[in-house]
Amino acid sequence: MKNFCFFPIIGMAFLSCCACNKHYHENATNITTNATKHLSKPYVILISLDGFRWDYTERFQPPNLSTFIAEGVQAESLIPCFPSKTFPNHYSIATGMYPDHHGIVSNSFFNPDKNAIYKIRDREKVEDGTWYGGTPIWVQAAKAGMVTASYFFVGSEADVQGIRPTYYHRYDGSVPNDTRVSQVMEWLNMPDEKRPHMITLYFSDMDDVGHKVGPNDDDPLKKKLMTLDSTLGRLFDETKATGLPINIIIVSDHGMIEIPVNQYMPVESIENDEVYKTVNNGAIVHIYLNQKDDLETVLTELKNKETGNHFKVYKTKDTPGFEIVPNNKSWGDIQIIPDEGWFFTYQRSLAFYHSSGIEITGQHGFDPNFKKMHGVFYANGPAFKNGYVTPPIKNIHIYPMICEILGLEIPDDVDGKLVEIEGVLKK
Ligand code: AMP
Ligand code: ZN
Ligand code: ZN
Repeated sequence: MKNFCFFPIIGMAFLSCCACNKHYHENATNITTNATKHLSKPYVILISLDGFRWDYTERFQPPNLSTFIAEGVQAESLIPCFPSKTFPNHYSIATGMYPDHHGIVSNSFFNPDKNAIYKIRDREKVEDGTWYGGTPIWVQAAKAGMVTASYFFVGSEADVQGIRPTYYHRYDGSVPNDTRVSQVMEWLNMPDEKRPHMITLYFSDMDDVGHKVGPNDDDPLKKKLMTLDSTLGRLFDETKATGLPINIIIVSDHGMIEIPVNQYMPVESIENDEVYKTVNNGAIVHIYLNQKDDLETVLTELKNKETGNHFKVYKTKDTPGFEIVPNNKSWGDIQIIPDEGWFFTYQRSLAFYHSSGIEITGQHGFDPNFKKMHGVFYANGPAFKNGYVTPPIKNIHIYPMICEILGLEIPDDVDGKLVEIEGVLKK
């Protein structure tokens, strides 16, 4: 065991493992051997290509991915949840729930019950399972006695319901993509009883380049995509060579829109710490009132700032973009939503853009009704039809589809519906 983390047995206190990164956990509850009924089941590899916009494949024609799609299934686009950010959407894919229900409502937010702020760079919060609602697919699999593995996925490092994937890695964006693929192949070459049937993989490349140059700068986007395509090609070839019934599902969490630097707005212009907390920025700013009675006054004050600006102010329940009426307290009382193509950021980031001579960037987070926020859904393997295209689908439906492929029960509280997506599966 050199390269991955392995948590055996229930109730091991302060277990330290893993040669790559050290982990210390209490009461890690895990399945290390597949129940006999799973031994003859297929395998699923769920791959997330962060920020892979729905139109990139057609525009850049990556050869391996194009063949994968032609011989498998695809959705015209994958519709993210609002806000179209990385954490809420990965966790919606992992749980089949809207962010309002699973609780990771944004990349940063305040939870009034915990009286604490969640931020994706705060490792303590990211790895604390009490922030995460729902039942991630690897947890559902573990409950059924199935071995799982993850080379990164939002939520996989947290002890959700006390359970993590059997094998997993703490997020480290500097790990080369080929290392991630080699690890997956190592897992797939384990003996039957130990071999994970549910594996996740994550690549941030398209999001990284998309933020840097925007979604319209073909050369750098194409270059990154072609490199990623070779890595994927290697995975496709090597998984095929195993002879195992492996289903590969490729998704992205959101798309990307061009934001010229002169369309950024300083979030400091709407802050007022004495009256409310301002958390998150970008395409949605959450306002948490210190005194709930101040709602109408603060709303009026903020609405007065709309004039001559490029944002709108709403009570949370009236905010456009949500799939369901937002009910989770972590959203806050008021939302500030920039117009499409406008974006909030800190003064210091703006200063950085100006001093670096940067004029164009890419961003996401907007209402999923904007097509530019859509991502991808591609799949190939024995469970999937060949050469089948479905209209745009919501990402919450992927979870029940994976349950169906792996023969797992679909939890009652999942928002996604098998009927919305099962057309991609062979009968
Ligand atoms: P954003 O584009 O701001 O929504 O977030 C994308 C970033 O999320 C990526 O560039 C990664 O750095 C980060 N990220 C992705 N997965 C994880 C994870 N499991 N833990 C911490 N950060 C992550
Ligand atoms: Zn993302
Ligand atoms: Zn991003």
